[in-house]
Parts: sequence; structure tokens; C-alpha cells
Amino acid sequence: MRFVFFIVLLFLTACQSNAAEKMKTVDMYNVSGDMIGTVALSEQADGIQVKVKLEGLEPGFHGFHVHEYPICEAPDFTTAGNHYNPEGKEHGLMHPEGPHLGDLPNLEADAGGLVDAELMLAGATLMEGKNSLLKEDGTSFIIQEGPDDGLTQPGGGGGPRIVCGELKTNPEEGKNEESPTDPTEFNEDQEE
Ligand SMILES: [Zn+2]
Repeated sequence: MRFVFFIVLLFLTACQSNAAEKMKTVDMYNVSGDMIGTVALSEQADGIQVKVKLEGLEPGFHGFHVHEYPICEAPDFTTAGNHYNPEGKEHGLMHPEGPHLGDLPNLEADAGGLVDAELMLAGATLMEGKNSLLKEDGTSFIIQEGPDDGLTQPGGGGGPRIVCGELKTNPEEGKNEESPTDPTEFNEDQEE
């Protein structure tokens, strides 16, 4: 009986960790370091569903893209690199040789500066693979001051980057680096 219980417990644990991989939430920060909302990701059969909730933007359209590196350093967020483009395409949802995998439709902030949008990032995944947003260290989500025209190279002409959020493969990694490792632990392993 105890054995059966153990098996059930194992099964439940496996299901939980699997579900966690298919859902990720990215906290979004402006250039002053204030968190202004979230980007919630969930794995679907044909891509990733992207739910965006933000406040405090200028009313109107804003370029929105996935970038190469999970590093958001204010004030210009250039540390995030270019648009995420693992397939080597041209920029723009309207470009005949595009788009970059990380190209998303513009976000529209209402008169009160709020965004509440639901988009699809077609062909991308949170699981393993060439088009994974969690390849290597991860990626990032960036919002621009102005709209992406969907065509202009290399990035759509949306102007400065004003909001950034990091999607890290191992969010705990930084914490581990801070805690010193016990040197005796290493020696013991060596002796075995
Ligand atoms: Zn692009």
C-alpha cells in the first residue's frame, strides 16, 4: 500500500514539473526600474500564447519583440541584443522574407496608458528545440517608444527601447553564484 502511494506521488510530481515548463511569466520594467506589468507565456500546439498586461505607457502603438539575450540593463536595454532570429530571416511581419521569430504585432496602449492584449508567437516554443525561447540562458521581451512598421530593416523603426523583461532559463542561477561552495565537498567527491 505504501508503495502504491509512492508511485502516485511520483506521478503527481512529474505532472507538476511538466506543467511548470509550459507556463512562464516575465516581469516587465521601465527604464527607471519600475515594474509596470507582466507578459504571461503558455505553450500551445502551434506556438506560444502571449498575454500582456501593462500600465503607464504612452497611448498609441508600440513595437514589441523577443530579443536574443535575457539581459535588461537600463537606460537603453541594448544588452538584450537584436530581435530573436534563430532562422536567419529578415525583420518584419509584412516582409516577404520575414519575419524574425521574435517579431510580434504592435501593442496598443489605451487613453489611460493600459495594455491588455493576447497575441501568438507562431512557431516558437518553451520546450527544447531550435525555436525555443529558453535556449542557452534565455531571451527577453522589449517594448519600444513607437510602432514597428513591419518592414524597415533591421528592426522596424520603432525607436528607443522603453520597457524590458528577462526570460531566464535558470532564474535561480544568480543566487547560487552568490553562495560560496564548500571546498571539502569537492574533495570528498574526488576521493570516491
Ligand atoms: Zn525583427
